[in-house]
Amino acid sequence: ANSVLSSYGTTIFTVMSQLAQQHDAVNLGQGFPEGLEPPKVLRAAAEAAEAGPHQYPPMMGIPALRQAVAAHDRRFYGLDLDPDAEVMVTSGATEALADCLFGLIEPGDEVVLIEPLYDSYVPIIRRAGGIPRTVRIAPPDWTLPRDDLAAAFSDKTKLIVLNSPMNPSGKVFDSDELAFIADLVERYDTYAVCDEVYEHLVFDGRTHIPLMTLPGMRERCARIGSAGKTFSVTSWKVGYIVAAPALMAPIAKTHQFLTFTTPTCLQTAVAAGLGQDPAVLEQLGPDMAARRDRLADGLRGLGFPVMDCAGTYFLTTDIRGVGFEGTDEEFCRHITAEAGVTAVPFSAFYRDPAAAPRHYARFCFAKLDSALDEAVARLARHF
Ligand code: PMP
Ligand code: GLN
Repeated sequence: ANSVLSSYGTTIFTVMSQLAQQHDAVNLGQGFPEGLEPPKVLRAAAEAAEAGPHQYPPMMGIPALRQAVAAHDRRFYGLDLDPDAEVMVTSGATEALADCLFGLIEPGDEVVLIEPLYDSYVPIIRRAGGIPRTVRIAPPDWTLPRDDLAAAFSDKTKLIVLNSPMNPSGKVFDSDELAFIADLVERYDTYAVCDEVYEHLVFDGRTHIPLMTLPGMRERCARIGSAGKTFSVTSWKVGYIVAAPALMAPIAKTHQFLTFTTPTCLQTAVAAGLGQDPAVLEQLGPDMAARRDRLADGLRGLGFPVMDCAGTYFLTTDIRGVGFEGTDEEFCRHITAEAGVTAVPFSAFYRDPAAAPRHYARFCFAKLDSALDEAVARLARHF
């Protein structure tokens, strides 16, 4: 037993980004944006770093940021949050997810998940002793399979993890689907951990609806946001959780032993960002949708079918469209090495990659036009 130091694998984002670097490829694999960092927010960080203080801030986050999160959630979603009792700052949404899952799951609890899903959920749930129950949505339109979802809930269910807008599918859950989920959450007396890091990355006039805003859900949901996504600064790792006090208590207890706090200067800058004109956040979706269209048009022109994408940084393509006959993993390695473009194999987003569909690849379009054009040109020379 001592020879097995950890059952965790290596995340696909590290694998593909290293490969991209090795081949000097245009990296449309790992999801991070280019050229959208708001100058005001960067200046606020620099000023706060200059001014200090530089010692441990309060465990729940600095008051200015907790108030800014509460004001943001009131402005965008009509939520009425007590910044002192119902908002906690974390070191990124990744920590927020770990706080929620380690804080709420007891060994043997079942957790409902919808796949394809973000890759950090299942390893943390398992390490917490939870048992994942997955249901699948499928391209091209990512319809929620309601019967499967209802069948995944039972008396053993502790919570559902709901990611909307959803990585990697780009699905945005509508009010009807959310009402269906809310009904199950209530009926089985469970909770929902709502990963809403792409809340401002919704396209084509749609709106993001937090599950927390539905009737009966205010006390049952922990809603997670990320400044990394909202302000296009993924290295900053500033996230937040909003939840009713009773639900926040075990989550905050976990946070105190995982990171305890997050750098003050970055919290200050994020507070300033959330405090600026909301129009800045409303512009993010349309800007990103233009990038989606640019890459989708380019890929379609090469023969790749592109699946519906209502939000996030990502679109899904069917690799068989260009006659590729290997697996998604082979495809992503192949285009990295041979064409100089990197994507992520879709099967990495399933609980059991061996039982996942093997003919889709995820491309990140949150890049400069020049990078998107170069990627398409490189693929065009190859296919
Ligand atoms: N959830 C989802 C769905 C994500 O795509 C990501 C990654 N960017 C995260 C959580 C983690 O966010 P953060 O960088 O704030 O830790
Ligand atoms: N969320 C990003 C993605 O899905 C990457 C996060 C990471 O590298 N861990 O690509």
